[in-house]
Order: sequence, then C-alpha cells, then structure tokens
Amino acid sequence: MSNDTIVALATAPGESALAIARLSGPEALAIASRCFRGRTAPESSASHRILFGSFLAADGAVLDTVLASIFRAPRSYTGEDVVEFSCHGGASIPAAILDELVRLGARPARPGEFTERAFRNGKIDLAQAESVAALIRARSERSLRAARSALGGALSRRIAAIDAELVSLQAEVEARIDFPGDVDEVMDVAALASRCASIGAKVRDWVRRSPGTRRLQEGLRAALVGRPNVGKSSLLNALVGYERAIVTEHPGTTRDTVEETIAVNGVELRLIDTAGIRGARDPVERAGVERARQTVESCDLAVLVLDRSEGLHAEDGALASDLSARPLIVAWNKADLPRVEERASSGAPRGGPRASLGRTDIVAEVETVAIRPGGAEPLLDAIRDAVPGILGVNAGDEVVTTSARQEGNLAEALDALGRAETGLGAGAAYDLVAVDLADARRALGEIVGRGVDDAVVAAIFSRFCIGK
Ligand code: GDP
Repeated sequence: MSNDTIVALATAPGESALAIARLSGPEALAIASRCFRGRTAPESSASHRILFGSFLAADGAVLDTVLASIFRAPRSYTGEDVVEFSCHGGASIPAAILDELVRLGARPARPGEFTERAFRNGKIDLAQAESVAALIRARSERSLRAARSALGGALSRRIAAIDAELVSLQAEVEARIDFPGDVDEVMDVAALASRCASIGAKVRDWVRRSPGTRRLQEGLRAALVGRPNVGKSSLLNALVGYERAIVTEHPGTTRDTVEETIAVNGVELRLIDTAGIRGARDPVERAGVERARQTVESCDLAVLVLDRSEGLHAEDGALASDLSARPLIVAWNKADLPRVEERASSGAPRGGPRASLGRTDIVAEVETVAIRPGGAEPLLDAIRDAVPGILGVNAGDEVVTTSARQEGNLAEALDALGRAETGLGAGAAYDLVAVDLADARRALGEIVGRGVDDAVVAAIFSRFCIGK
C-alpha cells in the first residue's frame, strides 16, 4: 500500500458543466473532512455514499457546492480510501479545489498513478490496466469493444486457463526428470508432445489475430496513389464527405502527404493522398517523395486511381508494381467523361485492366466520378468490403490483446512452446523441456503482470493521462 495520498482531476480540463477531483490514499478521508462541510463528514461516512455539501477554501469561505463520493478501502478503484469531489467545471473552481487539497497534504498524481495503484493493490491485472489506457485512447467502436472485453478480464481468464494446462504438463515433465524409468517412455512422450501442441495451437490462434488487434488500435492506413490530375484529392474529399471520423489529428504525420480519417465498419481508416509521390526534381522535394513512398509502403491498403477517360498510361503499370504485396483497389475515376478512344471514335480494343497492370490480385475494381455527389460511393463500398480481410478478423471475433507488449509476450510463449514440442519429439532431456515450459509460462504471466519488472510497469503507466 502506498503511504501518501494523491489527487488529480479525473475529468478533462477546460469548459465543462462538471469536473471531478479524485483523492486516493490513507489520508483521503481525513483531508476531505477538513475541506468539506455537510451533514456527514467524509471520515464518519460509510462506503459508497454520496455526501452533499460545501467545499471550503483555506480561509473558510465556500469555494463551491459539491458532491463527495466516498469509497472505503478496499472497495474502490485503487483499493485505497477514495473521495471524489464532483464540482462545477471550467478553469477556476476545479483548479482551486486541487490547490486546496494539495495544501491539505495530498500530492498531485503522476499520469496513470490511480490505475497503477489499482494494479499494485491487486484490483486489476496488468492486461486490464493496459485496457484502461486503450479504452481512453480507443478511436473506433471496434477498438473500444476490444478494450472493454480485456478490461472485463477476458484476456486474463484465457491466460489463466492456458496457464493451468501448462502447469499440469510441466508437473508431468518434471516428474519424469526425477523418475525417468517409471513409465512407457515412447507412448508417454507422444502424449506429452501432443498436449504441448494443442496448447501451442491456442496461443497461435491469438497471435494470428494480433496484427488485426494492433491495427484496430492504431487504425488502418489506405494510400491513394495515382498520376497527377486523375482525381485523388477529389476522391479523398468525397470519401471524407460521407464518413467523417471521430478523430482527425495524428501527431507526427508527414506534411508531404495529406491525411484524412474516416470510420469504416467501426474501424478507423486513415486515407493518405500521396500526390507528387513520383517525378520530383530538387533534393528537398525528393526527400518528401521518399517519405511519401515510405508512407505508402507501410499502408494496409492501396487505392490506385486511374483516369478512365484517358485509359492506362505506362506510368500506371509502374505505380501498380510499386504497390505489390499490398491489397489493391483500382478506382477508374472520371467515369463521366467519354474515353479517349470514344472521342476519337477509333474503337481500338483495350486489354482488361488486370492484365495491363500486371496484377492478378486486385481486391476490387470500381468506377467513380469524384466530382459528382455519390460518385465515389462504389469506392467506399469496395473499401468496406476489404476491411475485414485486411484485419484478419471476422466481425464476430473477440479481439483479445490491447498492446504491442502483450503481443510480444504471446510470440515469446509460442516460441517456447514450439521448442518444448520439438524437444519432446526429438527425445530431448526432460529438464530442458521443463525449462521451455517455464519460459512459456513466464511469457504468458507477464501479460497479466506476473513477474514484470518495475521499470516495465512504470513505463506502461507513464503513457496514461493524468487523473487515470
Ligand atoms: P489529383 O491531382 O489526382 O489529386 O487530382 P484532383 O483531385 O486535383 O483532380 C484533378 C482535376 O480533375 C480537377 O479539376 C477535378 O475537378 C477533376 N476531376 C476529378 N475527378 C473527376 C471526375 O470524376 N470527373 C471529372 N469530369 N473531373 C474530375
């Protein structure tokens, strides 16, 4: 248990009707009793009561009319005594209340310190703590759902179940270290190896979903690529016009590309217009082009925009091959204009675009008129259809991990299980197999915070916001 009492605003600063100042620690009730005047003093209140009264300034004047919610240890978010003052919002009252609570002996909390205390007091495990951060950051319905399920302990329960299987397997392997000649070795080893394989298969199932998990957190990235003037910016604007996303700010994004965010099937999709990715002359511009190219290389989906009225250019083929290994949607834009051949009425036969682009793996091909209301909708539909495949998850899948740290641990566990299985198959000494199984348990345990370094824990909580 911590021996100091911390305080922070639990609500975002700025204009608001209400704000909440949260106190947690051994002195929370005593401090609250000195600045709160009502029918019942916080110190003599039962747990889970809301008290109505006045918050007093240092000189005894009434600062605000407040509600004080009382949570006695261990039945609180942090597991300590907690008092939450609900006061009027805005810039001055919450700040004055905080100042007064600090003057009375509370310390301003570090980012994530309330949740860190909840973890240290055993109220939640590390995977749940991380999902609190994920919940606050969640930018789409899907990532929100994943975070909520992890906070509810879905991930922790799965880990506990796998760990139980590992413990029993480990016990059997260790028994054979001490009494090697006791059992029919050949049959026995095969059975152990197959149990090991089945545990591995469960973990592998998580890892298989993990890229989808990460993308749910970070959002998908789609690049709009094409020659100048084919209508990339017009398409981007049209798409954004239909589906404006919750969040459009992305710190650290390069200014060489234009980004807009939309929500597709509850997933955040960042659309990146890579105008000018090719053909830059001077070095500064070339550096920009290089960054734009890297952006495209890290994208999850590429939309190659072509000018249908002009037909295919040689450069389009080059762009398409630059984009290889990425799911590709082809948008034939300017479908409202007559084709060049039609205009010249030459009627020259044209090869199918798939053949001409040298790609057989095009996800979808659509015709669009970016400048006409509704004219970009076929592209939006195609993107929508492509999203589940890119995520590698189906709509009904439960998404289990909420951080890269957890995914790293899953991969480690899988490695160790693979070594154990191979070891058993190859007749390795039981003590070596036991070490691999112990490694797998350690990696899984770290997901929920077992045996995790203090520095790692501190790093996780430092990414939280203040007041959480
Ligand atoms: P970008 O250079 O690829 O980003 O192309 P822009 O979006 O700037 O569009 C270039 C020009 O084509 C602009 O004058 C647009 O108004 C026009 N344009 C874009 N889409 C269409 C379309 O579907 N039909 C027609 N007729 N013009 C379009």
